[in-house]
Order: sequence, then structure tokens, then C-alpha cells
Amino acid sequence: MSDAAIVTGVAVAVVGEKIAAVGSQAELERSYPGATRVDCAGRLLAPGLVDSHTHAIFGRPRFEEQELRASGIDYMEIARRGGGIHSSVRDLRGRPEDELVTLAMPRLQRLAAHGVTTVEVKSGYGLTPEDELKSLRVIRRLGEHLPMRFVPTWLGAHEIPQEYRDVPEGRSEYVRLLVSSMLPGVASEGLARFADVFCEPGVFTIDETRTILTAARSAGLGLKLHADELRASGGAELAAEIGATSADHLAAISESGIRVLAESNTVATLLPGTMLFLGKEKQAPARALIDAGAAVALATDFNPGTSPTTNFPLIMTLGVSQLRMSVAETFVAATVNGAAALSLVHHVGQIAPGYSADLALFDASDARELPYWYGDHRCTGSWVRGRVCHSSTAETP
Ligand SMILES: [Zn+2]
Repeated sequence: MSDAAIVTGVAVAVVGEKIAAVGSQAELERSYPGATRVDCAGRLLAPGLVDSHTHAIFGRPRFEEQELRASGIDYMEIARRGGGIHSSVRDLRGRPEDELVTLAMPRLQRLAAHGVTTVEVKSGYGLTPEDELKSLRVIRRLGEHLPMRFVPTWLGAHEIPQEYRDVPEGRSEYVRLLVSSMLPGVASEGLARFADVFCEPGVFTIDETRTILTAARSAGLGLKLHADELRASGGAELAAEIGATSADHLAAISESGIRVLAESNTVATLLPGTMLFLGKEKQAPARALIDAGAAVALATDFNPGTSPTTNFPLIMTLGVSQLRMSVAETFVAATVNGAAALSLVHHVGQIAPGYSADLALFDASDARELPYWYGDHRCTGSWVRGRVCHSSTAETP
């Protein structure tokens, strides 16, 4: 991860949807004499950023919770009072599909404006078969309307819904509903590439998570976990055991969790914006994970409760300043390893021949500037599959 292969003075040739060559400008002009030229003016051209963890389908933002937290009421207490995920669930259930598409569209365009060309989007504020399918159909429609590359994830196991929390045997009944009703519906419509579970004490236990994800694997979905976010409970160990594509959050991961993740192919996806926004002092042990040999990815965790940001380069800043990663490591974490966390590592996340022409141009002359100008907006344009995705001017960037 310490080598992001940053080079200067090169040009990129794109043919159709793919990168055909990377080399000196003179050489490429000889090889592709009729090509349309895009002058990047010596600025930073990076692989399009891969945001591998978002909850971008929601209705009302939850700005009232920020002050509650500041006054000393924590995340779990807000949830117990009917806030948190439960309030987003009540809100989303009341909204038709069209309205959710309209609300999500500008939010995702903001993410694209920061250089993101691939975005994973989870359901998880529906928590009934109909409302989870509705959320996933919203993601599919957004993918048809926006040029970004979408990866949909079913997160029916985001929380035990209130109506199941309030009755005896409700938990096991909800797990049964997930496995025997919701999952077959999601799989038969081909609406999700991954299944995810919020594995955390007070939400889904290790055994429940194993049951849900084993069923999801049988249904042909890739596996993800929200693991060890607030307390170490064996989530990372379970992710490695079941061959999950990624284990996400990990702020409270144990020593043994670090060891098994490092020895596995599971990507450790870290979300430092969430811990910052929640006012937590503890961040995931990125250094220990990387030094042990784990593949670390960074993502925004864009969601209405705990990380309402679309600024992915800011997350890279936090990677350096809070997680003590090098700039090269944050670039790898935001591109190559983000792609690995979505099983796309052979298609996106690198500027190399054969890869999809997913590129982002930043107003910076040195790669170190991107995390340096923190909170700034430096992306001037991006392309997905060789076509313009975002442009800060009316013309091609
Ligand atoms: Zn999440």
C-alpha cells in the first residue's frame, strides 16, 4: 500500500470504455493520431475514487441528533429513544419510490463532484420486504440515470425493527423474515450484489450474522459486515471465517481480529469520518492493520445519522491525520482497495491498460495536495467508462 505508483509527465490513451495505454504524450500521439485530446494542464489525474460504503438512500436528514450528542447523549441512547436508524426507517417507509430517487439524486451528484466514480449504496432503512425492495429499486434507477458506477448492497439486517424489538421472540422472527422472505425476493429480482449485516452487541449477534450471511452466500450474494464498530465482539474474525469481501468500521477490532484479517482476503474498510462526526476519540487501528498486512480501504459511510459527508478527499485527509496513513496509502485505500472491497479490483481503481476508463481530475499539481487542502473541493471533472461523469464547467473537463 505504500507504493501508489505516482508518476509525472505522462498521458493516458482511452479507447472506447477502457484505458488502452499510459506513456509519454509524444509516444501516445504517435500511436493514436486521430484521438480527441483532453488537456489536463499538468493537474493530478487519479483513478476515479471508489466509495465502497454508503447509506445514500434516505429521506429526511437527522441534524437534530448532532446537538443531542454534543449534550452528552450517545448513539445507543439516541437509538433507544427512537432516534437514530429507527427514525430514518419510519421516514423512509412513508415515502414513495419516486420521491426517494429525487432526494438521492443530488446527494449522489455531490459525491461524484468530489471525484467518486464508483459508489456502493446500501438499503437498510426499510426493514420490511416491501421497503427493502423499494430502496434497492431506487438504487437501480439511480444507476440508470447517473453516469457513476453503482454497486447495490442489501442491508435488511441494519437493525432489528422496532415492531420486532417490542415482542417476545421478535429477534428470531426478524432473522427468519430476513432469510426466508426478504433475501429470496432480493435475489430473485437481482437487485443486490452484496449482503451486509450490522454485527454489533445490541444489534445482530455473531450467530445471527453467520446465519444471515451464510444464507446470502447460498443465494449468490457477496458478503460484507459492519464489524467491531463500538465494541470488539468477534466481527472481524467472523468476516475472515466466512470469506467476507470486506469487514467495515473496525474501530474496536481486537488484536486477534487484526491478525486474522491480515491473513485473509477480506478488505478492512475504515470510515474515519464517522468516528470524527460522532465525536469519538478512538479511530480504527489503521497502522496496525496495514503493518500486519491487511488490505485497508477508506470510504465515506455517507448516511444521515453518523457521517453526512460526500467529501471523499476529506476522508483521505482523516486517513493521514487521524489514522496515520501515508498519502500513498490513502490513495490506494480510496481506489485499488475500495475496488477490492467491491470485487471490482480487476476492472476499476487503477490507471492501467485494460482497466475501465474511470478517471478523476483534481486541481492540484502534487498528489500530496489532495489530502492537504482539507475539506476543499478540488475535483474539476471525472469520467466513467470513458464518458464524462462530472464536470465543473459546461464543457468536457
Ligand atoms: Zn455503514
